[in-house]
Amino acid sequence: MKALIMVDIQNDFLSVGNLAVPEGDAVIPMVNNIADDYSLIAATQDWHPPGHLSFASNHSGRDPFETIDLDGLEQILWPDHCQWGTRGAEFPESLDTDRVAAIFRKGMDPRVDSYSGFYDNGRRHKTGMDAWFREMDVDSVDIVGLAGEVCVAYTARDAADLGFDVTLIEDGTRSLDRKEFEREADDLEGRGVKIV
Ligand SMILES: [Zn+2]
Repeated sequence: MKALIMVDIQNDFLSVGNLAVPEGDAVIPMVNNIADDYSLIAATQDWHPPGHLSFASNHSGRDPFETIDLDGLEQILWPDHCQWGTRGAEFPESLDTDRVAAIFRKGMDPRVDSYSGFYDNGRRHKTGMDAWFREMDVDSVDIVGLAGEVCVAYTARDAADLGFDVTLIEDGTRSLDRKEFEREADDLEGRGVKIV
């Protein structure tokens, strides 16, 4: 069975948000349109505690988009975003979530970021999405969401590594940096991910 994964379509990644992805709002009507084509839909949600160490504000003297070492992993420092319990972390009202069967939240551990919907960035813990798909007999996933070169690309790479047949729907994603997305797309294609 094929499933759709909606990656991090949350207010903070839209034009109203703290970490707005350029043209991010454009994915909403597209995703609403294709949702009916799937019998199973999962969504991921970036879901951080206020003290999350991916926030530049939690490191004195650091600015957003600087890179640091965090417990042995390279970490880009982000503006505060998707703090649990805030409006920025919620799905936009314009996104049709009625048919979303399961939501996988990630990034709750303050010491490690979690771009992928499957694992944290250190691959220390899984979110449970892999096991849930197996239980639902999913062998193929289509991926949309934000941001293209970050959480969408990481989710697609892990899905391919986990043995799923993966398609990234380019119309359903937008990136912070278009060139970076193209580099990621080349890498993903080399791993068997279809970009359509
Ligand atoms: Zn985050």
